Amino acid sequence: MEKIQSSALKGKVVLLIHGGAGNFKESDLGPDQQRVYEKYLREALEEGYKILNEGGSALDAVEASVKLMEDAPVFNAGKGSVLNKEGHVEMDASIMYGKDFKAGAVAVVRHVKNPIAAARMVMEKSNHVFLAGNGADDFARSIGMEMKDEGYFITPSSLEQWKKTKEPASMPKEMNKHGTVGAVALDQNGNLAAATSTGGVLNKLPGRVGDSPIIGAGTYADNNTCAVSATGHGEYFIRLTVARSIAALMEYKKISLEQAVNEVIHHRLQQLGGTGGVIAVDKNGNFIISHNTTGMFRAWKTEKECEVRFFKE
Ligand code: ASP
Repeated sequence: MEKIQSSALKGKVVLLIHGGAGNFKESDLGPDQQRVYEKYLREALEEGYKILNEGGSALDAVEASVKLMEDAPVFNAGKGSVLNKEGHVEMDASIMYGKDFKAGAVAVVRHVKNPIAAARMVMEKSNHVFLAGNGADDFARSIGMEMKDEGYFITPSSLEQWKKTKEPASMPKEMNKHGTVGAVALDQNGNLAAATSTGGVLNKLPGRVGDSPIIGAGTYADNNTCAVSATGHGEYFIRLTVARSIAALMEYKKISLEQAVNEVIHHRLQQLGGTGGVIAVDKNGNFIISHNTTGMFRAWKTEKECEVRFFKE
């Protein structure tokens, strides 16, 4: 269990990002690999923070950070997404703005280059919140978004990982990381936003949808309480509506972000046997990163600090 909390930073900005959680330890991730993850996390953090620092919106910041992580081949989102049982990429993403409760999501997309940008467009350019499958890709194409052939998303390492699922006998000890990406932010105007993007889980059944694109499960933002992005075993996060539960506990029980996260991650999720974690920031700039796994790729930046971490502390 890990908790990081900072005191309120009125009018200031806060950005937290994650690149997935899992039961990995220092011995599973060599120094070279650590450097690669750190580089991508720092780039994504700086990209989003710059927007916040210049007075931009939390919504733009979380989208920008997540987009860069989708483009990075080391995370399980966009390029580098895990493959399903049939060897195909099917990606999910969602975004929510705490200012006006607007939200957008896509699921089972196979061609839009940046699923998080497509989710934002569903929110802004359609009358809907959630589009799935071919309809979601068609919508993205119809408004001129960048589309890619499947080969773009499949990396040598994601293909290798998938091939190993077909030969269980020769399967080496898995690093067991989830690899989804996400971001939460508080901007100078006190607005909160959250975004999450994923390739889902390795070897999933075609058509499987996880928590990441489900508003209230993997993503939630409400200016009155907090913004949350989750990563972990999606089926559990859906059943517990993890992200919305954290906000609802704060809203109805009048408890702190830390208490709400603790209740959901370390009591409910733990009891049910789910693994994973969340990044969350409240309307006053208090933030927390909490996971019940041994590792979580995570980074955060405020006026006072800028940190990148991988392992449990
Ligand atoms: N939550 C994601 C899903 O179940 C996976 C992850 O976070 O790694 O699709």
